[in-house]
Amino acid sequence: MNPRVRELQETVCALHAELVRYDLVAWTAGNVSGRVPGEDLFVIKPSGVSYDDLTPEAIVVCDLDGNLVEGDYAPSSDTAAHAYVYRAMPHVGGVVHTHSTYASAWAARGEAIPCVLTAMADEFGGEIPVGPFALIGGDDIGKGVVATLEGHRSPAVLMQNHGVFTIGASAKAAVKAAVMCEDVARTVHVSRQLGTPLPIAQADIDSLYDRYQNVYGQRSPR
Ligand SMILES: [Zn+2]
Repeated sequence: MNPRVRELQETVCALHAELVRYDLVAWTAGNVSGRVPGEDLFVIKPSGVSYDDLTPEAIVVCDLDGNLVEGDYAPSSDTAAHAYVYRAMPHVGGVVHTHSTYASAWAARGEAIPCVLTAMADEFGGEIPVGPFALIGGDDIGKGVVATLEGHRSPAVLMQNHGVFTIGASAKAAVKAAVMCEDVARTVHVSRQLGTPLPIAQADIDSLYDRYQNVYGQRSPR
C-alpha cells in the first residue's frame, strides 16, 4: 500500500477521537476525511462503525467520485458530499461533517452566526454562513457546501436544517474549524440569551483575520 495512504488513515482515525473529545458527535453521526497528497483519492470513515471501534485499517479509501477503492467497509453515507468538495476545491485537503449541538441549532433556524467575537474574526474572518437545505444521497449537499464556501473566508458552513461542514488545508485543520465552529456557536447563543451581541467593525474583523492567518503562532512549523 502507498505509505502516504497508510499515514493518512492513521491521522484520520485519530482525528475522529477529537470529535468525541470535543463532544461534537452522538452515536456515529460525524465524519472526517483527508485527501491523499498527489493522488485523486481520499480516505474517510466507514459507515456505521462506532468511534471506539475505529482503526486505521477500517478507514476506507475512495476516489474523487466517492467510489470505494480499498477497504472492508462501505464508506460513510456522507461520502458523496466529501467527494464533491474535493473535486470542486483543489486546495482543500480535509473535510469534516458533524451535527454538533449549538451549530446545528443555528442551522435549524437557517441563521448565520454573526461575527461578534474576536476569535470568530480570527478563525472565520466574518460570519459563519448558512448553506441551502439539501437531501442526502446525491451531489446536492456537496454543491451547497461548495457554493456557500467558495469566495468566503469561513471554513465552516451551517447546512440548513442539518449540521456543519468544514474544510481545511488538512484533515486536522478541518477538525479544528469544526471544534471552533461549535465553540463560537455556543458562546454567541449564550450571548443572545443575555441581550444583543455587539457587532465588530468590518475593518477590525479584516485586521484580526489578517493577523491571525498570517502572523500568529509559530513560524515555519515542521
Ligand atoms: Zn449529517
